[in-house]
Amino acid sequence: MTSARDALRPDDPLVKLKGVGPRSAEDLASEGFHTVLDLLLHLPRRYEDRTKVWSLARHPEAASWILLKGRVTNLKVRRIPRRRMVIVDGVIDDGSGLLAVVWFNQRWIHRRLSDEPELYLYGQVRERRGGVLQLVNPEVEEVADGEERVVPVYRRLGRFGGRRLRNLIAQCVEATETCRDPLPAAVRARFGLPPLCDALRELHLPSPPCELAAQDSGLEDFNSGNSPFHRRLAFDELLAFACAMHMRRLARRAAGAAVIDTEIVNPTRIAKLVPFELTGAQLNVLDEMKMDLGSGRPMSRLLQGDVGSGKTVVAALAMLMALDSGHQVAFMAPTELLAEQHARTFEDIFSAVGFTTHRLTGSMVPAAQRSVREGLADGSVRMVVGTHALFQESVTFRQLGLVVVDEQHRFGVAQRQALVGKGRAPHLLVMTATPIPRSLALTVYGDLDLSIIDEMPPGRRPVHTHLRFGDARPRVLDFLKHEIEGGGRVYVVFPIIDASEEIEAAALTEREAAYRQALQGIEVGVLHGRLDRSQREETIARFRRGTAPVLLSTTIVEVGVDVPEASVMVIESPQRFGLSQLHQLRGRVGRGTRQAWCILLADEGIGEDALRRLEVVCESTDGFAIAEADLKLRGPGELIGTKQWGPAGFRFANIFRERDLIRRTKVLAAELEASGELGEVIEGLREYFPIEVVLAAD
Ligand code: ADP
Ligand code: MG
Repeated sequence: MTSARDALRPDDPLVKLKGVGPRSAEDLASEGFHTVLDLLLHLPRRYEDRTKVWSLARHPEAASWILLKGRVTNLKVRRIPRRRMVIVDGVIDDGSGLLAVVWFNQRWIHRRLSDEPELYLYGQVRERRGGVLQLVNPEVEEVADGEERVVPVYRRLGRFGGRRLRNLIAQCVEATETCRDPLPAAVRARFGLPPLCDALRELHLPSPPCELAAQDSGLEDFNSGNSPFHRRLAFDELLAFACAMHMRRLARRAAGAAVIDTEIVNPTRIAKLVPFELTGAQLNVLDEMKMDLGSGRPMSRLLQGDVGSGKTVVAALAMLMALDSGHQVAFMAPTELLAEQHARTFEDIFSAVGFTTHRLTGSMVPAAQRSVREGLADGSVRMVVGTHALFQESVTFRQLGLVVVDEQHRFGVAQRQALVGKGRAPHLLVMTATPIPRSLALTVYGDLDLSIIDEMPPGRRPVHTHLRFGDARPRVLDFLKHEIEGGGRVYVVFPIIDASEEIEAAALTEREAAYRQALQGIEVGVLHGRLDRSQREETIARFRRGTAPVLLSTTIVEVGVDVPEASVMVIESPQRFGLSQLHQLRGRVGRGTRQAWCILLADEGIGEDALRRLEVVCESTDGFAIAEADLKLRGPGELIGTKQWGPAGFRFANIFRERDLIRRTKVLAAELEASGELGEVIEGLREYFPIEVVLAAD
C-alpha cells in the first residue's frame, strides 16, 4: 500500500486490514472469507449489552441467560471414561457472590482459563439435582477497556474469534460507505426498508440502546433478528432468490422439450401393470403429468404425498411413457438402501414390458459402474436407478428424457440441476414425503409446479398412536412380546446412541440390556450409523426375514427401510424429535395389512409444551396438518434440509417467519421484469448473494 491509505472498499482483499497478513488471509479464505464484503456479511450471532452485567448479589433464575464479569477459581478437570466425557468445573466469583460453572467436553477451557484475571462469561443457568444452580458451558471472553457498551458477538472463523474478530470486522464497516444499493429507491420506500449501507453499519456497530429506543427498536430486536436492519438483508436475500427462480422459470419455459406420447399409458395398460386400482389422487397427478409431458415444454413438477401414499407407482407410469417414447430415464434416490428398494419395485413393473432396470451406485465395483456408464452414453441402457453417483461428471446420456428425484429435500437445487443438465431440457419430477404446507411449498420451490397426493390407498388402517410414560414400560414390553408372537415386527427408535450429560434423552446403548432382558428368547437387532455397512445390511436382512423381529435403532430407519410386516414403532424420548419427523418415523409401520401401532414412550417430567406437541401426533395422521403444527410450534427446523443456498440455506431470512415476504418478493420479481428493471436489480444483488447457484445450474 502506498498513500496515507485509500478508503477501504467492499471488494478489497482481507490483507488490506490491519492485523491480517498473508497467513491470516489464507486462514480466512479457507473459511470462505476472501473480501471485506464477505466479513460484512458475517453478522453477529448476538449482541451483549455490557453495560448490564449481572451481579451475583442476586440469585439468577434457573434457565435464564446471564452475562457475568468475574474470575473463575477452583478449576478442576474430571474424566468420566464410561461416558467418554471430560468435565471442567469451578466457581465464578464476581466480587459480589459465587456461582458454580461447568463445561462439558471442552478440555481446552482449563488452559484457557488458568491465568486469566477477569473474564466475561455468558451462558445459561441451570438447576442441578438437589437445586444447585450452575452456569453451563458459558462462552468466555477477556475483559478489555472501553467495552462497557453493546458488543457484537460473532461465530468464530478459524483462528479468529472474540475481540480479535470483532476488531477486524469493525475496520470493515468503513467500506459500507461505498456498498452499492441493489434496490431501486422506490422499492425501498414501498417496503419501508433502510439503505443497505445503514443496515450493514448498524448490524456491526449498533447505535447506543437509547438511540435505538428512539427509533422504536431495541437490542431485543437485534438479538431476535427482527431489527429493520436484519429485515433489510432478509428482504434482499429473498428477492435475490425470487429473481433467480423467476429467471429459471423463464428459461425453462422457453426451452423446447421432447414431446412424449402419453396415450401409451391408458387404463387398460395400467390395469395390466399394476395389481391394484389407482386412487383418485393418483389419477389426478397422472393427468397433470400427462399435460406436462405432452406439451413440448419441459415438465418441472414437485410431487408431494405422505409416506405410503403411492408416489412411486405414479412416477413409474411417467417413466414408462418416456421409455415407450424412446427416451432414457434416470431415477435418483438419496441413499443406496432406497435406490435398491426402488430398483426392485421398478423391476417388478418394467420387466413385464421388456425394459431392464439398471443400477448405478458408489458401492458397485468400478467395472460394473463403467459398463452402466457406457450403456447410458451409447443409449443401450434405457433406465437407471441410482444415488449421488448419477450426477458425477463421467455420467453422460444419449437421450435423457425424464429425471425423477426421490426425497427431494435430501438433495440441493444444484445437485438436482446437475442431473437435469445431462439432458437437453429433460422433464423433471421431484418427489417428497416431507409434507410442506402448500403455501410454503409454492414459494420455496418457486420454480416447480406442485402436485399433491392427499389420499391413502384403500384398506390402509391408520396407525394407532399412544403416548405412554415410564411407568407403563412393563406393559409396553408385554405388548411387544405379544405382537412378535403373533408375527409382528417391532422398531424401537432412540434419539441418541450413547448417554450424555448434556442431553436428557434415552440412549440406545443404555437401554439395550433392558430390552434384551425383557424380551428373552427373542433376537434383538441393533442398527445405527457407527456400525459398518455390512453389519447394518446383515441386521436389516435379519429383521426383514423375521429372525430378529426387534430392531433397536436410531433415526437411520427414517427413510427407506420398508418391511411390510413391521407393525409396532416405539419411539423413546419422543420429545427430542420434530413432529414431522415423528410422523415420518411412524410411516415405517402400517405398510402391510396388519393393524399398526406407534407408542411414544416419553420421559417423566417433560414440559407442558412438549406434551401438547406429542398430542398433535397422537391425534392426527395427516402429514400436512402435522407439518403446519410443527411450523407453528417449532419454527424453522429440518422440514426442508437442502445444503446449498436456497430454502433452508438462507443466511439472513428465516423462511418460516417470512412467509409473507417470500410471497411478496416473488410478486416483486415479476413486476421488476415487467418494468424492465429485473436485469439491473439482479446485477446489484449478485454482488451479495450467490444467485449463480440457482441461475447457472442449467
Ligand atoms: P410412497 O412412495 O408415496 O411412500 P409407495 O409408492 O411406496 O408410497 O406405495 C406404498 C405401498 O402402497 C406400495 O406397496 C404400493 O405398491 C402400494 N400402493 C400404491 N398405490 C396403491 C393403490 N392405489 N392401491 C393399493 N396399494 C397401493
Ligand atoms: Mg417413497
